[in-house]
Amino acid sequence: MSRLESFIRRVTAQRDCLNRAVALADGLEGVVLELGLGNGRTYDHLREVAGPREIFVFERRVAAHPDCIPDDDHLFTGDFRESFPRAEARLAGRAALVHGDFGSGDRQATAALARWIGPAMLPFLAPGAIVVTDQPLSVAALVPLPLPDGVEPGRYHMWRYE
Ligand code: SAM
Repeated sequence: MSRLESFIRRVTAQRDCLNRAVALADGLEGVVLELGLGNGRTYDHLREVAGPREIFVFERRVAAHPDCIPDDDHLFTGDFRESFPRAEARLAGRAALVHGDFGSGDRQATAALARWIGPAMLPFLAPGAIVVTDQPLSVAALVPLPLPDGVEPGRYHMWRYE
């Protein structure tokens, strides 16, 4: 598969999973967490489809398109390992939807981050929250959900917090 085709499948999977997650979280009160702003594409999509929920973004170093940067009140900068504890007092138990897109070209570092972030996000989740990630997580309290039609298993991941 060409890299172009692979990219198209990845962003299509992101969009379809995020749309599904927003529908599944309908009826759940709570905010959205975006873990990894990148250039702000998925943040911008969430702003469109998940409004009027508040969206809080976690990002090590902001380098997004200027139109896709949240205000300071909705942005936690720094490494997740350092920003999560800072955010907990404010956001504990409040997330109805979490999107984590934090993978990088470094497979080992990405796998280590995924092992850390699964349990670390739990304190933020409201009961029944929907979690969508680019990486597999292994957390008993996160029950896998079926993916939207057309999304290949393993390309993206969805769970419900139970
Ligand atoms: N979903 C985004 C978009 O649509 O533009 C792309 C996200 S990009 C693949 C991953 C982002 O996660 C990067 O901006 C990176 O800086 C951030 N990130 C990765 N590891 C991180 C960490 N440990 N702490 C904070 N941010 C991290």
